[in-house]
Amino acid sequence: MKQKKQIIIFTDLDGSLLDKDTFEFNEIEDYFRELISKGIKIIPNSSKTEAELLDFNEQNNLDLSFIAENGSSIHRLNKIHQNLPDKIIISRTIDEIRNIYEENISLDFKNKITHILELEIEKQQKILGLPLDKIKLAIKRNHSIPIKFNGTESEKNEFTKILKNSGLTIQTGGRIINVCDNVNKSKAMSRALQLIRKQLDDEIITIGVGDNENDIEMIKQTDYPCLVKNENFDSSLINIDNLIKSDEPSPKGWSDVIKTALQKI
Ligand SMILES: [Mg+2]
Repeated sequence: MKQKKQIIIFTDLDGSLLDKDTFEFNEIEDYFRELISKGIKIIPNSSKTEAELLDFNEQNNLDLSFIAENGSSIHRLNKIHQNLPDKIIISRTIDEIRNIYEENISLDFKNKITHILELEIEKQQKILGLPLDKIKLAIKRNHSIPIKFNGTESEKNEFTKILKNSGLTIQTGGRIINVCDNVNKSKAMSRALQLIRKQLDDEIITIGVGDNENDIEMIKQTDYPCLVKNENFDSSLINIDNLIKSDEPSPKGWSDVIKTALQKI
């Protein structure tokens, strides 16, 4: 019989842990650190880049494992167990993804798309809502192409279908959508868990926290799925049995759902 329980929280950052406008979580920081000091593992699973997530660790004096670019790569699992790898790359490179995109998307669609990486920094700043020094980190993308889609909803569905048929996906987050390889937050989480389970003898209990479409599959796969209130995301159609929902947005909503989940464990 397994003696110890190891709780692992897989969490989205923007709009879930971090305030969607200020990207801060000061309000609940003490609680966040308390969880870590109790031995709970927290793994950010974000559309952010490796550079942004390393910066998040550094700015907050943290040493967390993390999943970057919507499940494209897994980092620093060796912080959980020394036998685990420092880096696992799941996705193809951004150049390969760009080539597939160029070959398969018609000019008609291309005209409806704004490429964030090609904009002037002031425009990038406006769309991403980040301070200038953080923009540099946000555009260091290794596995995904951030875009704004300027067409109708049905055109967007058609665009998604064409991408899917060419082996790519789109991942809708808070401010932008990303064209990615056939990856997602859920698959990367499963891969990380599979590796962690091989090294730890403990019973592993997972909590998943998100606030948007690109988090749903991930939280669904966890033992305690949690959804933080997001006024721009209609969660009424989400069909998850034991879903824990917050009444408040991030960051307060994050600590609320975690407290509820921990009471249930
Ligand atoms: Mg989010």
